[in-house]
Amino acid sequence: MSGHRHCLMGLMPEQITETLGLKPFQGRQIFHWIHRKGVVDFDAMTNLAKPLRERLKEECVAQDMRIVNVQVSEDGGAAKVLIELRDGERVESVLLRDGDRVTLCLSSQAGCPLNCAFCATGADGFRRNLDAGEIAGQALLLLAAGEVPREVTPNIVCMGMGEPFLNYDNLVAAIHLLMHPEGLEIGARRITVSTVGVVEGIARFAAEDWQVRLSISLHAANEELRSQLVPYNKKDSLARLRDSVRDYGAKTGRQITIEWTLLDGVNDTPKDVRELLAFLRGLKAFVNLIPWNPVPGMPFLSSTRANCMNFLQGLEQGGVKATLRRENGGDIAAACGQLRAQHEPPTPV
Ligand code: SAH
Repeated sequence: MSGHRHCLMGLMPEQITETLGLKPFQGRQIFHWIHRKGVVDFDAMTNLAKPLRERLKEECVAQDMRIVNVQVSEDGGAAKVLIELRDGERVESVLLRDGDRVTLCLSSQAGCPLNCAFCATGADGFRRNLDAGEIAGQALLLLAAGEVPREVTPNIVCMGMGEPFLNYDNLVAAIHLLMHPEGLEIGARRITVSTVGVVEGIARFAAEDWQVRLSISLHAANEELRSQLVPYNKKDSLARLRDSVRDYGAKTGRQITIEWTLLDGVNDTPKDVRELLAFLRGLKAFVNLIPWNPVPGMPFLSSTRANCMNFLQGLEQGGVKATLRRENGGDIAAACGQLRAQHEPPTPV
């Protein structure tokens, strides 16, 4: 789509200025049009001088990805958007609505190399890392597709396809784009990054000068079971992960979230509660329980309602705060771990 032309979506104002040899205020104006106003048509950037607009049209594109399909859940609470990137790769992003609250779930990679036993994305393999513009640009496409009013500040979760900490630099650059005061200006505390537990990434994240939230996908608190469910555990073991989470807490003082996808008879028993409580001892953490969203062909069942409630209660009795997530978008396979970039024909919005 863009050929050899610069794509501006991934550039900070200073980088636009530098790349195009402009005055600093012009770089800021262009950034403002793209990131605050969601305008990617240079002709519509009316406060830019005509010759500059002409030059931009010749040398640049503002956005080089597009929506090819939108599916809205029956209750209207979730919209799953299929996005085609410049090279034809496809990723999915999700817009979730709960009353006035809007949450955008962004992908960090096309496909995923982790291959977790219960997740649809990994089953389709890894394609490539997304660049910063492709990660942040998903937010702009989602806001436009969902006709979200400007005055609503969305929450961002990097919990779509891929492992954010295996694409660390682009992820961090994307977060800076999303937080920029000339752009969407999303507060750091409204942004959450979810990782499988890449220890190196957690250490780097702890050193970032911001309040962006961290979430760890744990799912099992003994080495053997976790290695089965989350093969990445063979690289960064639970023991190493626990040390890095403890260091993160000591360094930042921030509470983390632990995600635990409940699989019937696999990780939802009283023994699993005990192991999780032992893992969390001394850590400042909050547990988010997610009933497993079925993926066809995978050898799991969702935990029963009773087992979900028992697990929740067991944690609370152990002094750990937890919630059981209400699922959203299951009917359009937009729920956690159901994202896979299906190449189905576009359907009308
Ligand atoms: N790679 C990152 C982010 C993507 S997955 C990570 O591991 O955190 C986002 C969350 O959804 C993770 O906690 C993941 O384990 C969970 N998940 C994956 N498949 C799921 C499924 N089918 N049902 C419920 N949760 C699932």
